[in-house]
Amino acid sequence: MKQPLIRPKEVDASAARHLISNRLLASLQPSDRSLLDQHLEAVTLYQGEVLFEPGDDVTRTYFPCASTMASLVVMMQTGRAAEAATIGREGALGGIVSSGYKPAFTRAEVQIPGPALRIETSRLEEAKERSATLRDLFSRYADALLAQIVQSVACNALHPLEARCCCWLLTTQDRVNSAEIPLTQEALAEMLGVQRTTVTSVARALRARGLIRYARGQITVVDRARLEEAACECHAAVRQHFDRVLPEIKPQSIILKPDS
Ligand SMILES: [Zn+2]
Repeated sequence: MKQPLIRPKEVDASAARHLISNRLLASLQPSDRSLLDQHLEAVTLYQGEVLFEPGDDVTRTYFPCASTMASLVVMMQTGRAAEAATIGREGALGGIVSSGYKPAFTRAEVQIPGPALRIETSRLEEAKERSATLRDLFSRYADALLAQIVQSVACNALHPLEARCCCWLLTTQDRVNSAEIPLTQEALAEMLGVQRTTVTSVARALRARGLIRYARGQITVVDRARLEEAACECHAAVRQHFDRVLPEIKPQSIILKPDS
């Protein structure tokens, strides 16, 4: 996505403050947290910022905080792209499983700007070497991320666009923890791998049924319960698996009602 970099509203240099807003880091035992604390750096991620490209050696791991969200995007030779997974404050990007040389397979691109914590991947690997519980947590997170990717393969092949769109909105609402999703329809179209005009007609239909509303640069979930009914099973399947393999990560509180 080639968009101008947009500065997020919230810029806070305090790593400690953001530590609790990344749910993966917040779930760490104190002893594991102390292994990472001194190496974490608070950064601000911008909309459209590319964290790594396919083939890049991944040397930094990012933990999105607050409502920050990034996508793993598969690039085709034609220049078209499709999203394989979204990662927000429930997880991390870059060098999660492998150790040593880690060429990136996908592009990682920031969709919703905001704060994040960053660590040199080599530091994270050292910490995992020292702690079996830390190693176990990241292995289970990798399993949950793989489940999201595997489910999206089946979803893209089998489910109609409107249901996929609803699923994507639910997943993103889980990430941002707000009724308001600060994304344009252009961005939504790219992430669903369809033309902008196609996504516009789906958004119009969802708006006519009172499920969402939208204005320039923002999509608002008006009726979460009915959006869940209209979505395919994939959102619930991925979320259930996440909760099963990472039970220590506390469920997010979803804000059901938009600000009027
Ligand atoms: Zn689906």
